[in-house]
Amino acid sequence: MTSLSFAGVLQAADAIAGELPPTPAWSYPALNQEVGAEVIVKHENVQPTGAFKVRGGVAFAASLTGADRTAGLVTASTGNHAQSVAYAARLLGAPAVIVMPHSAAAEKEHATRLLGADVVRHGDTMGAALDHARDLAASRGMRFVSPGDEPAIVHGHATVYLELLRRHAGLDAIYVPVGSGSGAAAACLVRDELAPDCAVIGVQSAAAPAAYNSWRAGEVLEASCATRVAGVATSRGCELPLSVMCDRLDDFLLVDDGDIMAAMRLMSSAAHTLAEGAGATALAGALAHSARPGRIGVICTGGNADAGELAELAVTPVLAAG
Ligand SMILES: *Cc1c(COP(=O)(O)O)cnc(C)c1O
Repeated sequence: MTSLSFAGVLQAADAIAGELPPTPAWSYPALNQEVGAEVIVKHENVQPTGAFKVRGGVAFAASLTGADRTAGLVTASTGNHAQSVAYAARLLGAPAVIVMPHSAAAEKEHATRLLGADVVRHGDTMGAALDHARDLAASRGMRFVSPGDEPAIVHGHATVYLELLRRHAGLDAIYVPVGSGSGAAAACLVRDELAPDCAVIGVQSAAAPAAYNSWRAGEVLEASCATRVAGVATSRGCELPLSVMCDRLDDFLLVDDGDIMAAMRLMSSAAHTLAEGAGATALAGALAHSARPGRIGVICTGGNADAGELAELAVTPVLAAG
């Protein structure tokens, strides 16, 4: 697929510049000590929606032309993509309808409604919710927004890596949590241009390995999805991100949900940061990686911890030093 390009990333960076300032990226001595590497944490948890996905939403809104700008947006999501699309529609002054599967957290539904979107609960799985969203878009004449297969969204997500690699030259590796893979594909696009020697390493929950299995096989596959970590809970690979990841992702790690909770705890104690599970998944990957190099970037993709994650944070033990 040739629809993704570094030129597209630069265009997205222009499109979001007036709306979303660059996010901070810090190194914390206590975290460096625990990980045994110099870690730069890129803080997407401080975005206005609490996650990096708003970059994709804002870039997507800017890319729309003609009737698509006013007809309104429809998508399906368990949370952060929902808030991103709601935020984008609000920027356009257009309506948004978000289909959430019954399992989605109440907090995320509430936050999405507060951005002005209509939330419809439908289906037990993301697949069922997506089918319903496609039907709604067709019957109402609105624009269906795919969570993984929109080039403008991948270009928007890539601005995370543009900011990180422009400011921090000489990183040996970047760890990226993977759900659909749009963030990991975006990282590869920017890395190829700005830092060819920096490895991009995907991290997914072992309890929802659809993207991992698809990457290994080189084709879109489905897998069971039993993770508690909402931001990375997907059951099917996504074609557009996979088209980039299959050639260019350097490595892909699976971690257990328990490791993700421990990383969330470490993010709170050593980096003063409330990450949601998905936002700590990259750190969990770095901690588990036996071949971890000396200078690494870790993307804290989001801070929208739900009630279950907050409760786990309180009972998960602090990692022992060393
Ligand atoms: C969506 C999401 C991810 C996964 O990103 P993909 O682009 O779908 O692979 C990771 N972390 C958070 C917080 C997310 O919302």
